[in-house]
Amino acid sequence: MSSTTTGVIKLHPRTGDGRLAARLKREIEGEVLFDAYSRGRYSTDASIYQLEPVGVVIPKTERDAQIALQIALDEGVAVLPRGAGTSQCGQTVGHALVIDHSKHLNQVVAFDRDARTVCVQPGMVLDRLNVWLKPHGLWYPVDVSTSAQATLGGMAGNNSCGSRSIHYGNMVHNVRAIDAVLADGAEFEFGAVPADLGKLDAPRGYLELVRKIRAIAAREAGEIEHRFPKVLRRVGGYNLDMLSGAGHNMAHLLVGSEGTLAYSKRIHLNCSPLPRHKALGVCHFPSFFRAMEAPQHIIKLKPVAVELVDRTMIGLARGNPEFKTTVNRFLKGDPDAILLVEFAGDDRDEQLAKLKQLVELMGELGLPGGVVEVTEGALQRDIWEVRKAGLNIMMSMKGDGKPVSFIEDCAVPLEHLAEYTGRLTQVFEKHGTKGTWYAHASVGCLHVRPILNMRADGAQKMRAIAEEAAAMVREYKGAYSGEHGDGLVRSEWIAPMFGARIARAFEEIKGIFDPRDLLNPGKIVRPSKMDDRTLFRYKPDYAAQKIDTVLDWSEHEGNAEHRGDGFAKALEMCNNNGHCRKFDAGTMCPSFRATGEEQHLTRGRANTLRLAITGQLGPDAFTSDELYATMDLCVSCKGCKRECPTGVDMAKMKIEFLHHYRQRHAMPMRQRLIAYLPRYAPWAARLGWVMNLRDRVPGLAALSETLLGFSGKRRLPKWRGDTFHLIPSPTSPPTPLRRAERGADSSSLPRAGERLGERAEGEGVLSREVVLLVDTFNNYFEPENARAALAVLRAAGYQVHLPRAQDSARPLCCGRTFLAAGLVAEAEAEARRMIATLKPFVDRGVPVIGLEPSCLLALRDEFISMLPGGDAAELALNAMLLEEFLAREADAGTLKLKLKALPQKKALLHGHCHQKAFAVMPAVERVLRLVPQLEVETIEASCCGMAGSFGYEADHYEVSMKMAEASLLPAVRAADADTLIVADGTSCRHQIADGAQRSALHVARVLEQALRT
Ligand SMILES: Cc1cc2nc3c(=O)[nH]c(=O)nc-3n(C[C@H](O)[C@H](O)[C@H](O)COP(=O)(O)OP(=O)(O)OC[C@H]3O[C@@H](n4cnc5c(N)ncnc54)[C@H](O)[C@@H]3O)c2cc1C
Ligand code: SF4
Ligand code: SF4
Repeated sequence: MSSTTTGVIKLHPRTGDGRLAARLKREIEGEVLFDAYSRGRYSTDASIYQLEPVGVVIPKTERDAQIALQIALDEGVAVLPRGAGTSQCGQTVGHALVIDHSKHLNQVVAFDRDARTVCVQPGMVLDRLNVWLKPHGLWYPVDVSTSAQATLGGMAGNNSCGSRSIHYGNMVHNVRAIDAVLADGAEFEFGAVPADLGKLDAPRGYLELVRKIRAIAAREAGEIEHRFPKVLRRVGGYNLDMLSGAGHNMAHLLVGSEGTLAYSKRIHLNCSPLPRHKALGVCHFPSFFRAMEAPQHIIKLKPVAVELVDRTMIGLARGNPEFKTTVNRFLKGDPDAILLVEFAGDDRDEQLAKLKQLVELMGELGLPGGVVEVTEGALQRDIWEVRKAGLNIMMSMKGDGKPVSFIEDCAVPLEHLAEYTGRLTQVFEKHGTKGTWYAHASVGCLHVRPILNMRADGAQKMRAIAEEAAAMVREYKGAYSGEHGDGLVRSEWIAPMFGARIARAFEEIKGIFDPRDLLNPGKIVRPSKMDDRTLFRYKPDYAAQKIDTVLDWSEHEGNAEHRGDGFAKALEMCNNNGHCRKFDAGTMCPSFRATGEEQHLTRGRANTLRLAITGQLGPDAFTSDELYATMDLCVSCKGCKRECPTGVDMAKMKIEFLHHYRQRHAMPMRQRLIAYLPRYAPWAARLGWVMNLRDRVPGLAALSETLLGFSGKRRLPKWRGDTFHLIPSPTSPPTPLRRAERGADSSSLPRAGERLGERAEGEGVLSREVVLLVDTFNNYFEPENARAALAVLRAAGYQVHLPRAQDSARPLCCGRTFLAAGLVAEAEAEARRMIATLKPFVDRGVPVIGLEPSCLLALRDEFISMLPGGDAAELALNAMLLEEFLAREADAGTLKLKLKALPQKKALLHGHCHQKAFAVMPAVERVLRLVPQLEVETIEASCCGMAGSFGYEADHYEVSMKMAEASLLPAVRAADADTLIVADGTSCRHQIADGAQRSALHVARVLEQALRT
């Protein structure tokens, strides 16, 4: 590479930070975070870089943000505005004061329906804005893949581009104006300016600024014409090309400036009408090359999007539990690549006609029958979700080699696309790597990330590949940065791509706006080297301490020399893409949804853990109270296990962490009481009337809050005398001939004298055996659920076993309460007991059926982590929830259950988080629909907020209620009185009862009622 202006990223002396923090704390209402853990959490984004910020401010008001900005600048400290931190090029990492708008500054501040304009604060998330605009028939059409996380401030900062940019343009084409604050504190509305500045009524300072910028644009007009790429996707440098000519818009200079010129206080946007109809053609290609040749022909049909997905991505999506069903619905055969071609508009017939033209075109291209036509809206949405998750899916690769972002969005004119991708693939091969291709074929901007090991020779290969790619892009007159911006990885390439003269003009502009270089320094101008390893997340001295883990992390382990590093590798799977910040669909991450804080986000936790085990937070950080605080609000919902594209399983990590934390810190009484509940439950149940006094005698609940920390605002689960299993004397040995359970409802009683393994009479013909595993909660607190399950299984003709352990009469337990406390040895003892007891059944292939999702699914998850392989794995294969078993039987046509219509005609279903994490919800819905005439609606909600004992704890009460109020409780309150509320989780039912005063039923009870009706 030839000339590069290489500067030094400023390191601000730590001594001054104390004064800065003190001033900020004194003068702003919002949060001021200067501790090492918070700084660590803000030291990364979705790039390969990591730089510790000076501190973090989370402004509560616009005034806060401005004061923070001013104080930092007064103190000579750099400022770095931040939205969701999903930038891929290192735009949001730096030694600066980070101002995070996403928590509070996220509102619509003005809207004009007729003019189709909206003004937002910078922390407003795109998807939220579009939910807000939808009732008005409008949307903001720069539909980035990170739409559920990306903030409008960040999108403007990066000049982001969506999948439909060929039709709607990029950010720069859709921002009308920006209210911005400059480095000297001046505040101006940057917007359209007429050719004759005399006609502009604006402050003198602003007019002066416009004149200076115009003069540069005019002076460089020839060079701009010659050097700026003519492709739509060009986001490198400053948008000087848009400022030449007659009238122009000064906001366009700020768009794409990555926080280096001004701070955006409010952003004025142009909206577009929502198209009424869409038609999607999935074009199948036998070779990648042919897929790359096609876009130049397809765009003549005027689609709004042409997006590529290649073979590797298809394979990864097929292997991803979240996407595989969708992929199988739209894919035919085994294509090498597909193009998703969308037509949109108000006239349905017109879209369908275009789809037909696409079919004809594919025929003309020699690929008759190569289009799958998708007109159904729901399937179209699902397909786009797969495409949007493209990069994340790709990042799910395990091991040290990871797809690295540095040339991932070069854009070339369409006629060169096939040749460019072919040549770049050869470059990868030359360097012993490969890349996966996907994204915006319509505009010649394809994402590709070669797989590199950034802890080994990745940096050298990165530079070599970048040199060759840049030369090629120059040759094709394309853009080296076509979507994701410059940041730390690409600012260095501005001079080689735009030429030294334009690079100097950019520096001049920076100097006019920010003479002291305090606004996000080191980006766009005066950059560092892209391959400076001291700026990397994996710096040359990066090493994780060896941890003697209690759970099995071997699936993440590296090669032979890295045995034992599985936990560290599992943490490194988080690439900071920020997908866990989503708020709409799915479960992940309820604690973030309730708090809006990075600390309480899967990403924040993964980063803190990673920094702790690599010694970057000081000694003993892994067992520190600060780390405990980071993990505290994780409700172990396992939402991330399923929904994090790279499979970060924070619930499992929390168990591992708590185990180590508990080695150093004593466990409080409250947690002890919860953890050991299954062990003392037989005593407690005998003394149920005493135990239940807490919620009967006035003042005792408040006292329990003071003494033990159980929230006085909650009732605790009620101990029942009529438990499902006979209450054993805790010390007595098992009595196999004793009747195993008793119940109030004689119709569901086990047959007298029934023994383990004995055939029970069902209604009709006896078919097969099953084991019914009655967990601690259903046994001691809601035995009617277990009786209902027993009745249903018997009515369906199953022989039901209720096994007992050999060591004592205490019922079997999955160890969930121990796991939640990090008492892994105790949980493991329970697991061994369970496995040993159930082994004879498992060996015979008898299904093991459970009722409480978090208990039964522990057999399929934590048991294997604690006791990998062998009998645990066998048990996992046989363990299933009641609804899974019944759905399976129904699908096989072997379920003989005579259900009758209920008086209620509607069921509103809330899924337990673990049911969602293990994809059980379709089975619950399927089983409920077995009840004649019952209409089933599932609530779109994240965690109920109770999460085992979490919501009962006084410290968690508020956040627990916030989680519940996000969607669950409003949905339940809105339901008619005669709608059945169904929830299989014990704690979910309690939350619904506490928060909405409705009693929810386990699915077993709904079925049992339908038997009796
Ligand atoms: C998986 C994945 C997929 C992606 N897909 C796309 C895509 O389809 N299209 C696309 O264009 N990008 C994409 N990106 C990149 C990124 O998501 C977008 O650029 C996004 O718009 C950034 O939004 P953010 O809120 O995370 O901004 P941040 O990363 O927080 O900030 C971005 C820049 O804006 C600046 N900034 C933020 N707020 C302000 C403010 N108030 N004033 C001044 N400057 C400010 C920041 O300093 C920074 O330089 C993707 C990234 C990932 C990880
Ligand atoms: S935890 Fe998962 S979803 Fe969240 S940032 Fe990391 S990789 Fe992305
Ligand atoms: S387990 Fe749930 S609460 Fe915990 S990090 Fe994952 S998604 Fe968030």
